[in-house]
Amino acid sequence: MDLEKRELMKPLLIVMSAPSGAGKSTLCDMLLQDFPEITYSVSCTTRAPRGMEEDGADYFFVSQAKFDQLVAEGKLLEHAVVHGNCYGTPAEPVREAFAEGQSVLMDIDVVGAAAVRETIARLPEDDPLRAGFVDIFIEPPSMEELERRLVGRGEDSPETIALRLQNAQGEMDRAGEFRYRVVNDELSVAYRRIRDILLVRSGEL
Ligand code: ADP
Ligand code: 5GP
Repeated sequence: MDLEKRELMKPLLIVMSAPSGAGKSTLCDMLLQDFPEITYSVSCTTRAPRGMEEDGADYFFVSQAKFDQLVAEGKLLEHAVVHGNCYGTPAEPVREAFAEGQSVLMDIDVVGAAAVRETIARLPEDDPLRAGFVDIFIEPPSMEELERRLVGRGEDSPETIALRLQNAQGEMDRAGEFRYRVVNDELSVAYRRIRDILLVRSGEL
């Protein structure tokens, strides 16, 4: 896609949520290509790697015991059980990146997004994290299309796809908690909308 090169002028804490299969990973990858100044927050998970996923890049794949230890030691900024597996955001890399003036992108579920939102709301009025907080919910154009995408991705078992579809409506019901909502119908249109939200919030547009 040929979009004019732009930079984020001010660090943002970007939270993206979506029902599984809506296209969030695709859109996050496009953002990371376009904006090298954004650090992707690599989550920990107890689920098994999928397709070409790499440990340390897509996720830190950990045992249940290790995950429980990270929670007990307070090393996670937020955590949740999603589709039967545990997921959590390591706190240190997010704090470090933000302290260095980098933007951070978190791909987390609606429960994790609510936890981050609450943490932000408790910060002092003038904390830069408050002004830099951007939460976006990605919606599929329809439930039928969501199912087509999950099946088309070809990386989940029929049972996993059924569970994710079953959970999708509950996630969609929480879309109203997000300041921004973007329907991912035509990919390039959805991407441009997300890019514009970030540029506006960082003071570039
Ligand atoms: P998520 O990270 O939300 O689970 P993915 O990014 O893995 O979803 O996308 C699910 C599938 O849908 C992938 O095969 C992806 O290539 C495809 N996809 C993503 N966005 C679109 C779109 N706008 N139109 C059609 N297919 C899409
Ligand atoms: P997947 O298994 O498809 O990679 O992710 C399943 C869901 O878990 C997605 O909604 C994704 O956003 C969410 N998720 C990934 N990492 C985290 C995390 O660190 N915390 C929370 N709360 N959810 C996460």
